[in-house]
Amino acid sequence: MLGNLKGLMTTLAEFFRPVVTAQYPKEHLPVAPRFMGFPVLTWDDKVGEPFCTGCMVCVRYCPTQCMSATMTDNPLFKEGKSKRRKIVGEFEINFGRCIVCGICVDVCNFDAILMSHEHELSVVARNGNRANREQLLKMGQEHQQKSGWKPAAETTEAAKEEASV
Ligand code: SF4
Ligand code: SF4
Repeated sequence: MLGNLKGLMTTLAEFFRPVVTAQYPKEHLPVAPRFMGFPVLTWDDKVGEPFCTGCMVCVRYCPTQCMSATMTDNPLFKEGKSKRRKIVGEFEINFGRCIVCGICVDVCNFDAILMSHEHELSVVARNGNRANREQLLKMGQEHQQKSGWKPAAETTEAAKEEASV
């Protein structure tokens, strides 16, 4: 009898405890700031073009070979508006094959790619998860706005200025 009452008390205590689970996909738990989702391309607001020059370093290092990129002449360089002589032409990532390792971000010398918080891109069709340059830039801009991301070169400059004051 006492055992039954103890069990009942435990059930009652659990019943009134706040719910910690989320009813996915209707509800989403917040993602930690350092969470690494799929890689996306970044946008240089100051110039109005991608940071990516299409240099292909990330493509060569990607362990699953799920990326491709092309390089083209930058029209803004000719107009004197950009310091980038070359700019990305086409860019594609097959998210179906991406293992979210972050190597592409580590090897990029131009702050042109970063790991976003995007992690819900499942599709039914095989190879239906390819994102092109425009999609990657759109995702990148959204992530930049949400996270307040700044290129490493800019944050290093700011730190130098702070140190010299
Ligand atoms: S993301 Fe970086 S490493 Fe990859 S092609 Fe663009 S500039 Fe080069
Ligand atoms: S995160 Fe890794 S697997 Fe995915 S595109 Fe970058 S290098 Fe390739």
